[in-house]
Amino acid sequence: SEDVVDVDKWIKGTCRFCGTGCGVYVGVKNGRVAAIRGNPQAATNFGFLCVKGFKGYMSMYHPDRLKYPLVRGADDKFKRVSWDEALNLVAKKFMELQQKHGKDAVAYYGSGQCMTEESYTFNKLWKGGFGSNMVDGNPRLCMASAVGGYVTTFGTDEPAGSYADIEKARTFFLVGSNLSECHPIIFRRVTRQKLSNPDNIKVIVCEPRLTSTARIADIWLPADPGTDLAVFHCMAREIVKNNWVDKWYIENLCRFTTGTQVVDFAAYTQFLEQFTPEAVEKLTRCPAANIVEAARLFATQGPTMSLWTMGLNQRTRGVWANNLVHNLHLITGNICKEGADSFSLTGQPNACGGVRETGSLSHLLPGTRPVANPAVREQVEKAWKIPAGKIDPKPGFHTMEMFAKLGAENDASKPLKGMFITTTNPAQSLPNCHKYHKGMKESFLVVADIFPTRTTQLADVILPAAFIYEKGGVYGCSERRSQLTSKCTDPPGEAKPDLWIAAQLAKRMGLEKLIPWNGDDPAANYKMAWDDYRECVKMTEHSLYGITYDRLLKMEEGLQWPCPDEKSPGTARRYVRGKDPIMDMPEIVKVPPQALIYFYADQKHEGRANVFLRPYKGPEEPPDKEYPFFLTTGRVIEQWHSGTMTMRVPEIARSQPNAYVEIHPSDAKQYGINNGDLVKMISRRGFNILPARVVKSSLPGILFVPWFDQDWDRMINRVTIDAFDDGSKQPEFKICAVRIERFGDP
Ligand code: SF4
Repeated sequence: SEDVVDVDKWIKGTCRFCGTGCGVYVGVKNGRVAAIRGNPQAATNFGFLCVKGFKGYMSMYHPDRLKYPLVRGADDKFKRVSWDEALNLVAKKFMELQQKHGKDAVAYYGSGQCMTEESYTFNKLWKGGFGSNMVDGNPRLCMASAVGGYVTTFGTDEPAGSYADIEKARTFFLVGSNLSECHPIIFRRVTRQKLSNPDNIKVIVCEPRLTSTARIADIWLPADPGTDLAVFHCMAREIVKNNWVDKWYIENLCRFTTGTQVVDFAAYTQFLEQFTPEAVEKLTRCPAANIVEAARLFATQGPTMSLWTMGLNQRTRGVWANNLVHNLHLITGNICKEGADSFSLTGQPNACGGVRETGSLSHLLPGTRPVANPAVREQVEKAWKIPAGKIDPKPGFHTMEMFAKLGAENDASKPLKGMFITTTNPAQSLPNCHKYHKGMKESFLVVADIFPTRTTQLADVILPAAFIYEKGGVYGCSERRSQLTSKCTDPPGEAKPDLWIAAQLAKRMGLEKLIPWNGDDPAANYKMAWDDYRECVKMTEHSLYGITYDRLLKMEEGLQWPCPDEKSPGTARRYVRGKDPIMDMPEIVKVPPQALIYFYADQKHEGRANVFLRPYKGPEEPPDKEYPFFLTTGRVIEQWHSGTMTMRVPEIARSQPNAYVEIHPSDAKQYGINNGDLVKMISRRGFNILPARVVKSSLPGILFVPWFDQDWDRMINRVTIDAFDDGSKQPEFKICAVRIERFGDP
């Protein structure tokens, strides 16, 4: 509470440890952050926080913080240098590489944890300054399939509704998401809604483990990893067969398509026939009766809200999985109504706002618009005041291609010779990670971060960066909500905000005119970058022109885009035309007249969304005789990503100190494994040595390992597969085949 903590002042901000976007107040005493409390007026969390929100900031004061620029010397050791020396070296080397090997020889690899102003500025420097689309970021590893799903189904990215739909939904479809550990505050809202009327609020969980999320389910759909496409089609088949469809939606708002050919509803019905409950049970191990009941609840006990994360996205058929969940909403009319939404939750705090919306991926421009579109390039070139034709029409490399093609200057097979990485740790977080270490080590690698990581170990230059509360800026969370954090304290040593680093690099490369700058006042510079971005996306469907710093400073809850002008209250529910669709306002369109709903899937079929007839395809590497287990990976509630921050908070490190492998008792017995024994887990790419947790929550044949641990023996991405989705290019972290053997005593 505000009263019981002794601080000098409380400053409004956001949590940086997941995509929920919880509002916080940061308590500052004697110039240091001394406490965090939840903001009771924040529309995302109403004052509640999880352990990371309360304690994560403590890592700021860990003695391992990077405080000075470091450059690798001829003896392979890092030595401290001045900022001038470090930045001059980076600029000189980048220019040399570009002159010798072309403008695309140097890449930028960003993060869903950078502030929006930073991602936008680095993206502008590369695409508008160098004329190179070699820009990608870690949201490619977590959200790209959700983007692909939204864009192919509805025509634009990001969900239609808001978290506020949770309190109006009567059925929840939680799929590919361990909400209770990965988005605990959202889970709290879902659980409260369930508890408010346990008999009438229903929860369906589709997930191969009996997680703490699945334990609140009325219906559990334990489909084997990567087989749920068949479950979704089977649910659709039951819905159509029993006439639980919304006929008006189907006739007026849906367009049925194979992806290459438009078909009619009869063809869709015919296509679904193969997915009988019995056939799907055989394929997925998911009980047929559960699928039938899930379909009934989904369609008849609405409004229905789906929520998902990596279980759908980190797949070789991630876009299709997203499409098929959207299908269920469209054919039952469960979208664009209060409590009805098809909602992908974001993993990182600013993957939506900072990377998707600013177009900081290799194929996009600001406003999530394709770089291949000449009209979009023209508009952005005008906004950036750069010569016509400066932006390259050809997309750059996506993440997996980038790291596969990064290497030494004299290696003709590797066109990327240098890379600038900020606020992320790909040496640990890429699937099959050790395969890519050689390229990182041999290229000219620059890393800006707050702590030493597995990636800084491979760098040539390490730049010490500021933590969110040491610089401020805007984050955009999963529900299209932008929130401003104000600077609370100074960074340690000589650490600097990433925006300053971008501007200094631009200056040394002769591109300072691109970046609006106002001396060394960080708040003014971040505001100028934000205003530059607002102008750039002013005329787009994603417009957040009306979201100004002044408004964000005053508003406890931030603002949701579209927000086209400064009078707009923002938009809680998209695709609804006519009256202002903000919920809980007097003129609200609670359930809009259907004729007001308008999707953008295809210009030729105005107003409609695509319902896809996607064929079934299972995982890339299913278990076989040699590798008989499914391995799936995920987060735990205490730890954030690769653990570089949360493992430096003593309370968190003690509560969840290392990764482990969850194994079902029947499998453990077969292999002579007891709780706590060390297990060697081997895939086609590498192995881990992990302590066993013998638990019933993982079904027979399925193993689970959390991914935060950076210990070489327990680093799970030495084992995972780097195959990726054809459309989104997002890798299949969630599923690969492994074998196990007992390795030794605890
Ligand atoms: Fe932070 Fe996410 Fe926890 Fe909220 S749920 S406090 S945003 S980590």
